[in-house]
Amino acid sequence: MRVVTSVRLELGRIFSELYEEGSDGVPVFKTFIDGSWTGSSDGSTFELRTPIDGSVIARVARCNEADLERAVRSARENQRKIRSLAAIDRIEIMEEVSKIIRDNAEDFARTITLEMGRPISDSPGEVRAVAERLRLAMEDSRKVSGEYIPGDWSPDTAGKVAIVLREPVGVVGAIGPFNYPLFIPSAKVIPAILAANSVVAKPSSSTPISMLLLARAFQLAGLPDGVLNVVTGPGFLGSLLAAHPDVGMISFTGSTEVGKEVARHAVGKMLHLELGGKAYAIVLDDADVRLSAAKCVEGSLRNAGQRCDAVSAVLVQESVADEFVEEVLKRVEDWKLGDPRDPATRIGPLVNEQAAERVNGLVRDAVEKGAVLLHGGQREGAYHQPTVLDEVPESARVLWEETFGPVIPIFRIRDEDQALQIAERSRYGLDAAVFTNNFYRMWRVAKALRVGEVTINDYPRHGVGFFPFGGVKDSGLGREGIGYSIEEMMVIKTIVFNLEPAGLGKIRRPRTI
Ligand code: NAP
Repeated sequence: MRVVTSVRLELGRIFSELYEEGSDGVPVFKTFIDGSWTGSSDGSTFELRTPIDGSVIARVARCNEADLERAVRSARENQRKIRSLAAIDRIEIMEEVSKIIRDNAEDFARTITLEMGRPISDSPGEVRAVAERLRLAMEDSRKVSGEYIPGDWSPDTAGKVAIVLREPVGVVGAIGPFNYPLFIPSAKVIPAILAANSVVAKPSSSTPISMLLLARAFQLAGLPDGVLNVVTGPGFLGSLLAAHPDVGMISFTGSTEVGKEVARHAVGKMLHLELGGKAYAIVLDDADVRLSAAKCVEGSLRNAGQRCDAVSAVLVQESVADEFVEEVLKRVEDWKLGDPRDPATRIGPLVNEQAAERVNGLVRDAVEKGAVLLHGGQREGAYHQPTVLDEVPESARVLWEETFGPVIPIFRIRDEDQALQIAERSRYGLDAAVFTNNFYRMWRVAKALRVGEVTINDYPRHGVGFFPFGGVKDSGLGREGIGYSIEEMMVIKTIVFNLEPAGLGKIRRPRTI
């Protein structure tokens, strides 16, 4: 199934400050606090294992509460530096970051592949997405402005005017997941800094290096010291960050369970939560079946299904189900599983062996309850075969739980109402897809689905966030998007001017009663 050779994390010269070579040749990474590359205060580290073969590819500073305190203090004390910098300078820093990322794209892409197993044919796309996100965010940041409100439209405020400003929140805590280790942190750090906030970032401990490389790009681009700080280490640091009184906003992307835990700690703060998803693809009987099958396969298997917007169950109308299944099986053959460093590989390992075992547990549960296994179904270490399950029964967990693996569960439906009932019962509400050629059905189904984004005749993909997305129900709070993210990281301040002393107040007409 796979060929594994020894895995080594090698980086170009611009990243040499970030690590020292350990006695066994494994690099020991520092973290980035107050503008310096530093170990944790007690010198401890944690091992980073690649899912490619489970070997240790790095050791990383294991920050503790004192380190987090230092990072937040630095962010708080240095926020004025970014706040007082002209907006055009912030844009120029972003332009430089973009250039550094593009010039070192191979290092970024290889790191993503080694950290989380994304095929090397795909990782450069994540790096390009960051550069594109930067470009679009720079454009949109210029549109963020304020308003002028004349007060004489209300008797309460006649004689006054107000201007409404958008100001930075202060310190933003950015907590990211493993599945887009470069893009998701950048989608938090870029808008936060464009909006003149300072940041403390806590990357996933499965994939901390991508975030550290990003921090290096910001440092080299001339971001003032202390405006971006990174704390690497276990999950509890995220809760400490969320509870810290000097942090004004938490932007969290990750699982629903941890997101709720973060929300419990972040009481009274601004909160953005991008949580788990269960995107149903609804294939109706008038759909283009070949197109639907092609899109559902790609939507389920890209990034080995480790996407919050992945198609994770297909609800296909009975009369076209056989044809749909046949088309799916033809296409699944093209998804080669193997070593993600091989350019021919389209599905690499999942993030770790436990993740693959969890996914396989969902497959076994469905088969035990009567689903028909048509393709795949096995795992070896962290590698899970692309898997097709037909006639999945309603009792199967895979119909309801987030899959986060390369599985295509197919559930046959009588009609669109049954599909809507299933989607309504789901605890998640991030994405859905509808395949139909009937305009009125598109509208009816799209309007009825309680999700943040519905995609018609394609699989859901948040991409660089050009279209806003986000969850309802257990999938989150707030909206991600280019300009939307910048505005979400700002607070409104109203300044009211009383013009009456200047003789500029408005005259009210005499009242008869
Ligand atoms: P996760 O386990 O929830 O972890 C996310 C982040 O939270 C990591 O940095 C993790 O640190 C940290 N964390 C863990 N325990 C914590 C705690 N008690 N308090 C505060 N922070 C804590 O998620 P994941 O497995 O990395 O990512 C996959 C999940 O993210 C999926 O559910 C997926 O749907 C979701 N996701 C959603 C979107 C979206 O746009 N809605 C996008 C991408 C991913 P450690 O790694 O150190 O434990």
